[in-house]
Amino acid sequence: MSLNIEQLRKEFPILNQTVNGRQLVYFDNAATTHKPRSVVERLTDYYYKENSNIHRGAHYLSQKATEAYEDARKTVATLINAPHKHEIIFTRGTTEAINLVASSFGRKFIRPGDEIIISALEHHSNIVPWQITCEQQQAKLKVIPINEKGELILEEYKKLLNERTRMVAITHVSNSLGTVNPVKEMIEMAHQHDVPVLIDGAQAIPHMKVDVRELDCDFYCFSGHKMYGPMGVGVLFGKEEWLEKMPPYQGGGEMIKEVTFEKTTYNELPFKFEAGTPNVGDVLGMEAAIKFISYLRHENIATHEKELLSYALEKLKQFEKIRFVGTAGNRTSVISFLFEDIHPYDTGTILDKLGIAVRTGHHCAQPVMDFFSLPGTVRASLAVYNTKEEIDTLVEALGRVREMFA
Ligand code: PLP
Repeated sequence: MSLNIEQLRKEFPILNQTVNGRQLVYFDNAATTHKPRSVVERLTDYYYKENSNIHRGAHYLSQKATEAYEDARKTVATLINAPHKHEIIFTRGTTEAINLVASSFGRKFIRPGDEIIISALEHHSNIVPWQITCEQQQAKLKVIPINEKGELILEEYKKLLNERTRMVAITHVSNSLGTVNPVKEMIEMAHQHDVPVLIDGAQAIPHMKVDVRELDCDFYCFSGHKMYGPMGVGVLFGKEEWLEKMPPYQGGGEMIKEVTFEKTTYNELPFKFEAGTPNVGDVLGMEAAIKFISYLRHENIATHEKELLSYALEKLKQFEKIRFVGTAGNRTSVISFLFEDIHPYDTGTILDKLGIAVRTGHHCAQPVMDFFSLPGTVRASLAVYNTKEEIDTLVEALGRVREMFA
């Protein structure tokens, strides 16, 4: 089935506006996507009809909200084919999910001299939490290097895996270059050394079907707001065998069984990792986003976005002085580039004047930019509601940018 994008765009009222007197063209989807009506309506519905604190109330609204929240957990488990719904932990987003694992797993399993492997493609949120863990546990951070195309060098990864490795934490899709990493193969390689693997799926989940059982990853993290859902909510999937052994990340209400001043016992999964009142409304909004994606189907989203990506690359090639940064064989939905000799910030600012939203800078992946010896790039990132006409508008606008700097 091919998607009716014109119809689909009507579900995103925000797209129908002018910016600086021009029709908005939104190409900053890797930063955050817009939300369809069904997500916004789910939020208002919850606050108008169901709002209540969950899990502990005997009254009608509390039970209703608890049921909705726990149903959303099932919806997430189904989305990623998790074996058990108690392996789904709701967090504030990918960042918190990674911090949870780095902190809790780190305290329990990482000792002085141990090693943690990440990659040179990571977003800061899959670097800094591990640096903190390394500092606290006196462990070492090892980094899988990349080649000029922006692909991980698997031979180097193989060399890094050894008996001191305690964790591999890698991104599924690079937010700065769009590289899709061969995570299944990398997980297999780590498991041959009995090393667990965390996958940062923030940029994968909106674009492709993710099956945690097929991948056999130990942890998988993502954010609601990059997949048409609300901000401030996300998911950590963790295999039961690890989550059971890991200590709580935060203490407070909800995560306890019994509290005395002498001793506290902890609640079962998933509640052990959900201290305090959860973000019920946004969890339900995220569930609506999952339903939206499921309705469109990941295959159709991927087909449309692939077509857009090839179209954009082909069209942009007409510029003699465009340099694509990141040219991996397997990539999705992100075009990082430098235009003429113009600073990315200037290109971005003029595009904004022409109604086009792109991102400029290091995209929270400074080591990637350091590798290419660049201060940053211009990044156009795609979502399902983008069109070829919008790409034509970008190409035309870049023509204007070139004229202005000529
Ligand atoms: N990982 C990747 C690959 C990302 O692109 C991002 C956000 O841009 C994050 C992690 C952090 O996500 P959040 O800020 O939603 O926690």
